[in-house]
Amino acid sequence: MENAATPLEEIRQRMAYAARIASREPEEVALIAVSKTHPPESIAPLLEQGQRIFGENRVQEAAAKWPALREQWPDAELHLIGQLQSNKADEAVALFDCIHSLDRSSLVAALARAMDKAGRRIACFVQVNIGAEPQKGGCAIADLPALLAEARGAGIPLAGLMCVPPLDVEPAPYFALLEKLAADNGLAGLSMGMSGDFETAIMLGATHVRVGSALFGERAAG
Ligand SMILES: *Cc1c(COP(=O)(O)O)cnc(C)c1O
Repeated sequence: MENAATPLEEIRQRMAYAARIASREPEEVALIAVSKTHPPESIAPLLEQGQRIFGENRVQEAAAKWPALREQWPDAELHLIGQLQSNKADEAVALFDCIHSLDRSSLVAALARAMDKAGRRIACFVQVNIGAEPQKGGCAIADLPALLAEARGAGIPLAGLMCVPPLDVEPAPYFALLEKLAADNGLAGLSMGMSGDFETAIMLGATHVRVGSALFGERAAG
């Protein structure tokens, strides 16, 4: 009997298929394995299968899990995908290779200071509150040009734009809007698409998809 494909192989195949439909090369799209809430024992098998980019949404949790994993896999790349408080900027710059949640002026200042202090510049995606949802993080669309100018002025390397569309509605229009905002502002990277919609995101230009539950199984509630 043949071995069943692992979840990682299956996601990679689905990503490649979506890229080809959109006349894109599969290599243009990076898979971020979102390992939040999952213990090192669940993360190690993905590292063993060759996955190298991981996403965590909390600084504290990542600081507890990743130093040991990185000793064994020094080329693992860690991305912060959750909201960041300014007082954790130093820790975030030391721990992460990329931040997807730059969304306000005070955080631009805190990250610029932290990067200067550390002598280390890490790429940031600016998160856009694409559905204008009051409870969600992300910069308002109207404030985006000013925030980008500020980040550029502060010497923060900008990777692109990131969004989390509203739940339970068709995400495609939001992905298309984020793609247009990135193009209008001269940005190449698009961090969009999760377990339920990464293929749609890839067809609409995603360069980074953030996939958690489809790789690791459902997270425990809470
Ligand atoms: C948890 C999370 C994901 C992954 O979500 P899944 O639906 O489990 O794939 C992606 N992006 C962000 C910002 C997240 O918090």
